[in-house]
Amino acid sequence: MPHNGTMEHNTPLISTIVAGLVLAFAFGVAAQRLKISPLVGYLLAGVVIGPFTPGYVADQSLANELAEIGVILLMFGVGLHFSLKDLLEVRAIAIPGAVVQIGAATVLGAGLGHALGWPFGAGLVFGLALSVASTVVLLRALQERRLVDSERGRIAVGWLIVEDIAMVLTLVLLPAVAGLLKGEATTANWQTVLWPVALTLGKVFAFMVFMLVVGRRIIPWMLHYVAHTGSRELFRLAVLAISLGVAFGAAVLFDVSLALGAFFAGMILSESELSHRAANETLPLRDAFAVLFFVSVGMLVDPGIVAREPLPLLVTVLIIVFGKSIAAFFIVRLFGHPNMTALTISASLAQIGEFSFILAGLGVALGLMPERGRDLVLAGAIISIMLNPVMFVLLDRFSAKVAAAAEAAKQAAKDAAAAAMPAQPRGHIVLVGHGRVGSNVSAALRRSGADVVVIENDDERVARLQREGFTAINGNAAAQEILDEAEIAQAHGLLVAIPNAFEGGQIVAKARAVNPGLLIIARAHSAEEVIHLRSNGANLVIMGEDEIARAMIARLGVDAISSDAAVNPITSAAAPASAGAAA
Ligand code: AMP
Repeated sequence: MPHNGTMEHNTPLISTIVAGLVLAFAFGVAAQRLKISPLVGYLLAGVVIGPFTPGYVADQSLANELAEIGVILLMFGVGLHFSLKDLLEVRAIAIPGAVVQIGAATVLGAGLGHALGWPFGAGLVFGLALSVASTVVLLRALQERRLVDSERGRIAVGWLIVEDIAMVLTLVLLPAVAGLLKGEATTANWQTVLWPVALTLGKVFAFMVFMLVVGRRIIPWMLHYVAHTGSRELFRLAVLAISLGVAFGAAVLFDVSLALGAFFAGMILSESELSHRAANETLPLRDAFAVLFFVSVGMLVDPGIVAREPLPLLVTVLIIVFGKSIAAFFIVRLFGHPNMTALTISASLAQIGEFSFILAGLGVALGLMPERGRDLVLAGAIISIMLNPVMFVLLDRFSAKVAAAAEAAKQAAKDAAAAAMPAQPRGHIVLVGHGRVGSNVSAALRRSGADVVVIENDDERVARLQREGFTAINGNAAAQEILDEAEIAQAHGLLVAIPNAFEGGQIVAKARAVNPGLLIIARAHSAEEVIHLRSNGANLVIMGEDEIARAMIARLGVDAISSDAAVNPITSAAAPASAGAAA
């Protein structure tokens, strides 16, 4: 095989993947150093390998297809966290919310089109293209903030799914009504318009029924079967085959979008106890392909538009970033959800992405929208995606303010109580995580009458604890403010009961820095994690597997054999204390 300069042309797939990943990596690291979101780096990497800048040009259509794999894996992962019940629970807000917000954005976009002197049809397509948010951008933002499992996150995802279905409908409908919109005398009548709508909705419905009736039986069974073979490789393969296979099948057989297909594949697996493992298996691939998504967006953009059309571009960006989000904010508030929920949804939706490109492309192909409109959509997309992390930073600032106000109120109440009572060191216990492990710990601590402050980042769990009258702080314990809020410097003990030891290490190190005398006990799942947590300052690390082994040995009644000899020597260093605690 000749290895020469023509290699690049012979292997467009490889060169697109390689150039995309390598440049995204380099620019992503640079962005991180400059303290801006790596997303900006990925997008710029795309601009560099795109057709509008000199030098190497990657294959645009291949890049788009690779990006689709990222969308599939992301939506599959979200589906794994979603049950049908969750989806039905948010429908009361998600359906009207998405519909009204699409309407508002479309009106604003059509208004801009009108101002630019475009015909009505062009403005309509333009407005619709501005109305749908990008799945990838939204999910990444939620995942980064660990919001996918929160109520706000579920509303945002439900909203996204409604938008997705609306877009599928629009894409089907547009060719049917194009003639009508252009004002041509056509044979278009109610029948030719209604029929495609009914057919598409029917197919979406048929797909859902098929998945819930047939898929729900076969797919979990398949995964369980493979899990029992004990082959990790086959399990991974099964997860990929299911997510990609169902998504593709949905698109080919039912004309449903790939994203929706993948979401359903994930959702019917969410009830299986294997869903956690399935989610983990797709993580590395998912992240790599999501990066390629951003690269492929960057490739579409002609940076020259900023100089050519500054004003229309500015208005386009304002519509995407503010017009849509303000509309969303009011709808969510109208439905009685708190400010934070409304703001999170608004920030999540203040961007556009893949659907907008497809729609704009179709609009141009049908002769409905001028190319200028598509260029504005593309440039608006890249700018709004770059601005999106900023929106979330503003959101975080706001939530910090809200928390500070709540804290001030609490402090005032405490000061009043302290004035009435003699001062006392708190000596309380901070418990991080209230899941399978933490909830058991807190129950025991409560029975013993200890003063416990729980830090938990699941909204609902925190709300439940607070309703029951316990002190619970909502947030990621790895954040210094949250630890401060729990008064870690005055605490007697810190129990880190979360499964992620990397994050656990950060929490331990931060707590240790402000409280050298604190007794820190952390949770681990492997010897490496034990070492990591201890090196960050934990006094004692409990490894689940060791404890299970210990308990098994104890139940066998072979107390005569020293149980410590039978378990991992690394954690046994901490054995006297834990054995003492267990006794
Ligand atoms: P489990 O693995 O069932 O014990 O659950 C762990 C719990 O810890 C879950 O409720 C998570 O929401 C929570 N959790 C995980 N990471 C963090 C973190 N960094 N800060 C606060 N809570 C967390």
